[in-house]
Amino acid sequence: MKTIFAESVPGRGSRFFESDAPTAAQMLPSGLLRARPPRLPECSELDVVRHFTGLSRLNYSVDANFYPLGSCTMKYNPKFMEYVAGLPGFARLHPLLPRLEQGAALTQSALQCIYEAERLLCEITGMDAFTLQPMAGANGEFAGVSLMAAYHRSRGHVRSKMLIPDSAHGTNPASAALAGFEIVNIESRDGMVDPSALASYMAEHGDDVAGLMMTCPNTLGLMEAHLPEIVAALRAADTLLYYDGANMNAILGKMRVGDVGFDVMHLNLHKTFATPHGGGGPGSGPVGVNARLLPFLPTPRVIRHANGSFCLNDNLPQSIGAIGPFYGSFSVAVKALAYILRLGGEGLERVAEYAVLNANYLKKRLEDVLDIPFKRLCAHEFVASAPEGMHALDLAKGLLERGFHAPTVYFPMIVRECLMAEPTETESKQTLDAYVDALREIVELGKNNPESQTAAPAGLPVRRLDETSAARQMVLTEDMVVHSNSRWSSKGCLELTG
Ligand SMILES: *Cc1c(COP(=O)(O)O)cnc(C)c1O
Repeated sequence: MKTIFAESVPGRGSRFFESDAPTAAQMLPSGLLRARPPRLPECSELDVVRHFTGLSRLNYSVDANFYPLGSCTMKYNPKFMEYVAGLPGFARLHPLLPRLEQGAALTQSALQCIYEAERLLCEITGMDAFTLQPMAGANGEFAGVSLMAAYHRSRGHVRSKMLIPDSAHGTNPASAALAGFEIVNIESRDGMVDPSALASYMAEHGDDVAGLMMTCPNTLGLMEAHLPEIVAALRAADTLLYYDGANMNAILGKMRVGDVGFDVMHLNLHKTFATPHGGGGPGSGPVGVNARLLPFLPTPRVIRHANGSFCLNDNLPQSIGAIGPFYGSFSVAVKALAYILRLGGEGLERVAEYAVLNANYLKKRLEDVLDIPFKRLCAHEFVASAPEGMHALDLAKGLLERGFHAPTVYFPMIVRECLMAEPTETESKQTLDAYVDALREIVELGKNNPESQTAAPAGLPVRRLDETSAARQMVLTEDMVVHSNSRWSSKGCLELTG
């Protein structure tokens, strides 16, 4: 693909007409005026449409094909939810419309959507209250650990440590460190948190432990087997329990996090609840809490009066303050609400059943293709290792060549040559079978002909990059004096010709 500047032809495209409006030179101080006119590409409307349509076709998406990127829940999201969020009454609402008593009539239905979405998330998870303000999963984690810190402060505790199992998502330690905690790594045993290791750590340092953050199911795709013992061990020391529920599609309708005894959790609406994940946003990472942490939730909170009207409350003296602008990603909350209401309790439960069934089916079918380190039932995803002598990266590139997105590779780091696949609940058996066939073909080809392993992808726009240079010496701009005296060389770079 050429850049739009390389497609430019002098004299083609729109002209700027003479205008009777004051010129920039009449309006602005001379120091702010540009010395030369901008070098805009000169293209016809058709050139521009073809350019951007071509770019969009280079983009891989769930709408195009299977996307088993583990830990990311790249599932298909029904277009109906996009339709609902796009209704003009939602999409054109301005965030600065009057929000309190003076004129909240204009925003009643929006406030009601937020209120209802929070209420339904409470029902689904067993938490006492939710805030929809955090803008992503990691932002939700930061809000959650800030709530934990506020709780301990209010009790006069001085607690510096956050326990994080080695099977947690990478954002957990990052969020806790950002909130000022010292991270204590808890080694897993057999893919799970070992309650006895936790108990012995607590016996020695319990007074200084603010909380434990658990990704559940963990990044190995395994459901923790010892949750009740873990909760009991920490509860005794007034240590708080955080549940990373970004992968809620594994347990919807099957387990309520609040009922198990967790104090705080986040969800990723842009994974489980019908907003596509990836593509740069917007996301939403709502945080749910039990009664112990409720006074510290971010402001403003949507409240419902006895007469059924809604307003926003900023007056919460113990609040940690705002975590995101306005009310978070409003359109994402609308999509989540539409999704929950459309599926109902029974439909949400089937989401979890299919997510887990698909992952276990795929894992079982790949047992004679890849090395599967944890044989027992997985949740919504599973980890595998490339066969001895092969690399996860090469298998991933082979999949790209065959039209599939690759699984997550080299994460979690506690698994050798790791490939972590999450098929999600929305894929059919035929798609999963085609993926297995592709992987089997790549592995067999690699065994018979080792050179083939590093050959892929040959037919894609980008072949193997020098990943270090691509990250450290990025070339993000090009010389824009291109126009008619340059051309696109066979090597893929711009060459001046005259
Ligand atoms: C995706 C994910 C996160 C982070 O969510 P972002 O929206 O990307 O910040 C955190 N924890 C788990 C388990 C996840 O899968």
